[in-house]
Amino acid sequence: MFTPKKVWLNGKIRRFNSVKLFPFFQALNYGASVFEGIRFYPTPSGRAVFRLDDHLDRLFHSAAVLRMNIQPTKEELHEAVIQLLRITKEESGYIRILAFYDEFKAGINIFNSSASVLIFSLPRQSYPAKKSVRVLISKYQRISRKAVEIDAKVSGYYANNLLGFIEAHEAGCDEAIFLDEKGYLTEGTVNNIFVVRGSELVTPMKKNILPGLTRESIMAMAPDIGLKVAAKNIAPHDLAKADEVFLTGTGVELERVKEIVGIFNSRNKHKKTDLLQNYYTKVTHGRVPKYSGWLTPVT
Ligand code: PMP
Repeated sequence: MFTPKKVWLNGKIRRFNSVKLFPFFQALNYGASVFEGIRFYPTPSGRAVFRLDDHLDRLFHSAAVLRMNIQPTKEELHEAVIQLLRITKEESGYIRILAFYDEFKAGINIFNSSASVLIFSLPRQSYPAKKSVRVLISKYQRISRKAVEIDAKVSGYYANNLLGFIEAHEAGCDEAIFLDEKGYLTEGTVNNIFVVRGSELVTPMKKNILPGLTRESIMAMAPDIGLKVAAKNIAPHDLAKADEVFLTGTGVELERVKEIVGIFNSRNKHKKTDLLQNYYTKVTHGRVPKYSGWLTPVT
């Protein structure tokens, strides 16, 4: 396993090995933490972080949902990410920001508990591997907007996602897609889903999903390459008529789906997915001026 040499913790760059976590932390016992995954890429004018401020906005929203008082401001965290990348020097990679309740309290009462912020980066290839995944429709329902603040990225929610992940892997699949209480598709364990039919992309509405930034980027970019895009309710049987299906997320970017067990088979056709992935790569690598505002240079 790769471990970063340095991390940023509460305003200081520290050695990775010097960071201590304690089992009493409310973060560990109750999932009382929030996080973001962010990518950075090489561009013609040096490295740049993709949609950094949008990720930070979501982090602060998630923290507010847990009434977590993050000490650094958004501007300070923005600078912290850049500072860490100056030290780590990888050409492309993945940044994780984790804000967590770190009070030595046995109970669930998080009010007035202290919180820490940890940032680290991991090297990741600049271009994603062109693999295809086998997916099942999970027997677990996606945790609903009636149960949680659905647009927050709270660690505790991921117990639901983990169950789907376990179910998928034990059934020989790579991913699980969750349905909502009405039986419509929501999303995968850590990614959103798109269905391609002709030149139209369809993705589930914002109701019961984490509205991913990659999903939003793809929706903005698709018309540039002649694809229409709409957010709609999608039932599992709609997948039978799909030409292509793909998943989106900061980490995987676009991931081809080769099969959804019992419903969909791509027959190795991923033309539109690959077109979009190529365009997404251009955007993230600073080669489409229209989207340069999404890139924060590491200077
Ligand atoms: N859904 C869930 C549950 C996720 O954890 C993620 C990853 N953040 C996504 C969707 C995709 O979001 P993004 O494109 O912002 O990475």
